[in-house]
Amino acid sequence: MDSFHPPLRTLMGPGPSDIHLRIREAMSRPAIGHLDPAFIAMMDEVKEGLRAVFRTKNALTFPVSAPGSAGMEICFVNLVEPGDKVIICQNGAFGGRMQENVERCGGVPIVVACEWGAPIDVEQVDDICRQNQDAKILAFVHAETSTGVRANAAALCALARAHHMLSIVDAVTSLGGSPVDVDAWGADAVYSGTQKCLSCTPGLSPVTFSAQAIEKVRTRKTKVQSWFLDLNLLLGYWEGDAKNKNKNKKTRAYHHTAPINALYGLHESLVMLHEEGLDNAIARHTKMHNVLKAGLDAMGLQFLVAEEHRLPQLNSILIPDGVQDADVRTRLLQDFNLEIGAGLGPLTGKIWRIGVMGHSARFENITLCLSALETTLAAMQAPITPGKALAAAQAAYQDAYTA
Ligand SMILES: *Cc1c(COP(=O)(O)O)cnc(C)c1O
Repeated sequence: MDSFHPPLRTLMGPGPSDIHLRIREAMSRPAIGHLDPAFIAMMDEVKEGLRAVFRTKNALTFPVSAPGSAGMEICFVNLVEPGDKVIICQNGAFGGRMQENVERCGGVPIVVACEWGAPIDVEQVDDICRQNQDAKILAFVHAETSTGVRANAAALCALARAHHMLSIVDAVTSLGGSPVDVDAWGADAVYSGTQKCLSCTPGLSPVTFSAQAIEKVRTRKTKVQSWFLDLNLLLGYWEGDAKNKNKNKKTRAYHHTAPINALYGLHESLVMLHEEGLDNAIARHTKMHNVLKAGLDAMGLQFLVAEEHRLPQLNSILIPDGVQDADVRTRLLQDFNLEIGAGLGPLTGKIWRIGVMGHSARFENITLCLSALETTLAAMQAPITPGKALAAAQAAYQDAYTA
């Protein structure tokens, strides 16, 4: 075997996004024990930094030692008991995974199916809630990465509260790129990932739970079927006080070995977000989306999603007639070291997904993406308008920075 040296790519797919050198450098620092007081103090800062990004005071806010999918799973395995009805809004791939989770927990999924590429219909969800007053949970994806659609999270969380249900919110692609207002929404269980708009390495899942959600976990009639993800056991590890100042809190106890160096990376990404300011980071995603959009519009490419429901960080573009999806993505990778995403499920071969997430939300990435796409499509004699995209992007850049 030889050492592995990955090619240097520009990552503009649905995640992972480009990782800043500061984060890579932080991750290469020496490992220390995960019960070392220095490590525990850093972990406390990570929890505090995550509360700021989630805009919450929730005490139980921490990174699960596994990717976003485990964040999804920790919410469902802890909050769903066998026989519990769970209303799931589904307008893309990740809503489908929520249903899988409910079924595997022995819950009864009630699916509100909306078209892929369209937003979740809040009135339709309200009707389903009225017809299922015994449902315990309402679950939805805030930023559907398979389509690029944003959900009206405030309205859906308010619906859950009005119908005395807990809410589970997937904020994997939204956290750090769009406002995620956990406390203002009154959301109960929210999970995210580190490799999208937080621009960290994959493999960690920030989560936060409201007091009502914790109450539900504490009063379960049945054991959580997953040992690793059982919040009752994880609490001893994440809730313990670093310096044991608070006598009501337990000292941190061993549960599993934390992914130490990965957490250094998340810490650094939260420091960087703090330096930039969360509002500024969110605004940057919108500005870069506008620059990309100006270029794509000038090229004559169409978006899948109606403008008012679009996510700035995930842009779904309709593949022009007669163009082979995979051929284009292969050329972008080979000739420009640029990764963009393919469509999923019913949108396979129909869309490309261009991620403008975290450290990838930079003008240099957008101009590379526009010129690489234009060069590739023009060479294939695809039906696009060449020669206009970069000028349009430059004008949009000027608008963004003189506004
Ligand atoms: C990426 C993603 C996930 C899964 O995260 P992983 O880190 O890949 O496990 C879940 N939900 C949404 C909306 C995502 O975009």
